[in-house]
Amino acid sequence: MTRKLVERRLVVASHNKGKVREIAQLLARYPIDVVSAGELALPEPDETEPTFVGNALIKSRAASRLSGYPALADDSGLCVDALNGDPGIYSARWAGAAKDFDAAMAEVHRQMQKSPAQRKSARFVCALALSWPDGQDLTFEGEIEGAIVWPVRGTLGFGYDPMFVPDGYDKTFGEMNPAEKHAMSHRARAFAKFVEVCLG
Ligand code: IMP
Repeated sequence: MTRKLVERRLVVASHNKGKVREIAQLLARYPIDVVSAGELALPEPDETEPTFVGNALIKSRAASRLSGYPALADDSGLCVDALNGDPGIYSARWAGAAKDFDAAMAEVHRQMQKSPAQRKSARFVCALALSWPDGQDLTFEGEIEGAIVWPVRGTLGFGYDPMFVPDGYDKTFGEMNPAEKHAMSHRARAFAKFVEVCLG
């Protein structure tokens, strides 16, 4: 199933400023008026599904239904092999109510040290869901493989960026400027699929 996004206003169904900023950067070249769920004061629905795609759909459907506009949601996270894929869909929750990602990264490091698996491999995963007010949805996924480093490095980006080095690079995402990260990130890869289907 495919469908072009012909509407010129799109709600980004997220209250996460880092994600909204990256999605707005990725959409900047298209004639689309981006407004975030936070700006519209839309409530944040509970993410009750066991998958990134399922949780992205919860957010895109809620924002589209409440706003009357097409809505794009991103559900994403860091999956660490030595932690059996954690924090995964719980990546935001590991930072707690205070959204303390220094504490969340320290917890990843602490659990990796306890783990019998010595592997440092990890991946960022992004599921994008686009929902229209008439009930149609499309979903797109992207991943980037890499390794966890400690101590963390870099102050650019957001979330777990300072502890993730993509395969083939020396810098963490936290040390990359937006253009460098967008050249390879999980979000940019999911976004490229969305663009091809809906904006191409
Ligand atoms: P959720 O999709 O709103 O449940 O939250 C995903 C969480 O995963 C974010 O709060 C970040 O902590 C983390 N995350 C997702 N994408 C990235 C990224 O590109 N860089 C760093 N952390 C990310």
